[in-house]
Amino acid sequence: MENELGPEYASVKHTSFLVKYGASCCRAEKIEVCADPADAKICHCLTCQRLHGAPMQWTAIFHKHDVRITKGTDCLKCYNSEQKIQARIPPCKVSCGLCGTPIADEGHRRWLAYPSLFAFGFPPKVPQAFLPTCHIFCGSRLIDMSDDLPKWSGHKNNPERIF
Ligand SMILES: [Zn+2]
Ligand SMILES: [Zn+2]
Repeated sequence: MENELGPEYASVKHTSFLVKYGASCCRAEKIEVCADPADAKICHCLTCQRLHGAPMQWTAIFHKHDVRITKGTDCLKCYNSEQKIQARIPPCKVSCGLCGTPIADEGHRRWLAYPSLFAFGFPPKVPQAFLPTCHIFCGSRLIDMSDDLPKWSGHKNNPERIF
């Protein structure tokens, strides 16, 4: 069971799993997905700013059953920012225990992967499905964005679009 994330995820034993995209950090972890993300967004919330050391965070949102980790599950480090404890209690931040790279947000039903870990070639060709469709939590943004994407003050569609 070393390399199994849990029953809600794709299994490493699934021979029908066709790898669509792969992601890794220092090579301690190997993450595979078999589908396009359902959505992608940029988050400007205070927690993402602090825990990523960046003004915003870009995530591609996958159904858990489309995701598996084939290497390094035992090396994952998880942090639940609400309870301020290192534990795999969703929603939590998942990072590599070896190099410290943030890997994903594990939600209750979704796996929010960080696209910068994916192999998109060089120069990278980011697939359309990974491109963000909106900015969320813009109420706490540190930098103004000049793109045409919808910008929400909190969650998507809630409470209001601010510009
Ligand atoms: Zn790593
Ligand atoms: Zn956030």
